[in-house]
Amino acid sequence: MSLLTDTPFPPSARLDGRTVVVLHAHPDDEAIFTGATIRRLADRGARVVLVTATAGEMGTPRSQLPRGADLATVRRDELEAAAAALGVARLVLLGRRDSGLPGWDSSSHPQALVRADLPALARQVADLVEREHAEAVVAYDADGIYGHPDHIAVHLLGRYAAALAAVTSYDATVDREHLHFTGPHLLDEAGGRTTYGRVTAEITTAVAATPHELAAKRAAMAAHASQIGPGVLEAPDFADVYELEWFVRRGEPALLEMLGNAHAVA
Ligand SMILES: [Zn+2]
Repeated sequence: MSLLTDTPFPPSARLDGRTVVVLHAHPDDEAIFTGATIRRLADRGARVVLVTATAGEMGTPRSQLPRGADLATVRRDELEAAAAALGVARLVLLGRRDSGLPGWDSSSHPQALVRADLPALARQVADLVEREHAEAVVAYDADGIYGHPDHIAVHLLGRYAAALAAVTSYDATVDREHLHFTGPHLLDEAGGRTTYGRVTAEITTAVAATPHELAAKRAAMAAHASQIGPGVLEAPDFADVYELEWFVRRGEPALLEMLGNAHAVA
């Protein structure tokens, strides 16, 4: 059982000079799963370093790309626009390749994220955490939220890097019980899984977007026009589906507990 309590920190706490590293697998994940949280951190003065592992090469474009454009270039441009909408201070690309879903040939490409030397890559991320004096690392839950192999790799990367740098880690997830009662989430069409995320009782930390933060998140999602269309962005229940963001913390309370929302205690 978990109980929601008021955060012990004042809701307007400034976070100037504080840094968090947020890891994601593909361009668009940062907006979908952590957009409102990044916007609030930035608005409070925190430095958000976004680390994106791949360029999402295996995503399916919603429409034909401009002549001569390749999807990786288009998605990197979209990521830069989304990062700007969210107030990201620094964007770091790890330069690995999207592994695609299990069974796809793309997973055997030598640059595929799933073929990376994860301990070595985690050392690289931990070095970044240390150089940035970051106090926390955000990645995904152990199932990569919905089972995508690149997301599971990012979970491991986040966990290893946080351990090496001895900082708090947060697993970004979704509350599957909450989403059971809302309209469809993008996860419903991704990867063919019928369950995803975590149950409510497992979640330690949640961020509920203000209208301003939700607008920034929506703008960041809209920047990923090759992947996310108006059907999602203009759905009447967009706020119900996307205004909450959820995390499972490992380690001491850190920056996400200072954002002024209620958080769960065991
Ligand atoms: Zn992804």
